[in-house]
Amino acid sequence: MNTATVTPNLTQLTRLHFVNAFLVREEDGFTLVDTTTGGGANGLIGAAERAGGQVKRIALTHGHSDHVGSLDALKERLGDSVQVLMPELDARIVAGEKIVDGKLAGSWPKNLKTTPDVRLAAGDRVGSLEVVASPGHTPGHVAFVDTRDGTLIAGDVFTSYGRVAVTTEFYLRFPLATMGTWDKGKDLESARALRALDPPVMVVGHGPAVRAPGAAIDRAIERASKR
Ligand SMILES: [Zn+2]
Repeated sequence: MNTATVTPNLTQLTRLHFVNAFLVREEDGFTLVDTTTGGGANGLIGAAERAGGQVKRIALTHGHSDHVGSLDALKERLGDSVQVLMPELDARIVAGEKIVDGKLAGSWPKNLKTTPDVRLAAGDRVGSLEVVASPGHTPGHVAFVDTRDGTLIAGDVFTSYGRVAVTTEFYLRFPLATMGTWDKGKDLESARALRALDPPVMVVGHGPAVRAPGAAIDRAIERASKR
């Protein structure tokens, strides 16, 4: 587990060099955003303890396996002391509902045991975070904005290996995020909506934190819209 302090309220946790989760500091402990792939529960709980608190909430950007992979193990360890929040549509997909025509892109968990306590909608609050709709990578994908300082947790709308890219853009160093994207048009629209928030800092599901990301996001959107 690699740990990086991004802001006083946000720590990025990276597992296996490719997948991120985030600890967001609140008065009662931490909100953990995403859970990485399977096998991460002990490391994630340990990172929260080392940062001086407990995981009180688990908020998910979307339902792909590399983001909900350690959810069941975390829930098993933390029990009723933790609240689980998942975007509405992705929660329904994970529960087995068929909500879109055709096959969904990406890897989805087959036997997720944990039922979210809350199904998230745009505008909801999770502690200091505000939920921002950003569908496209998955039907229900959401981003989170820290209302204290504008930090954007963009999930898989963008990747940031080498440079910022919209997940519609095929990128050899990390093709999985593009291959897993459900609706490229919507994903690009969401990229524009997140850009309009003008975040001072952006973190993503795959890749390092980006400070003052505006110009890099503009270039990414421009490349993506030419395709
Ligand atoms: Zn994904």
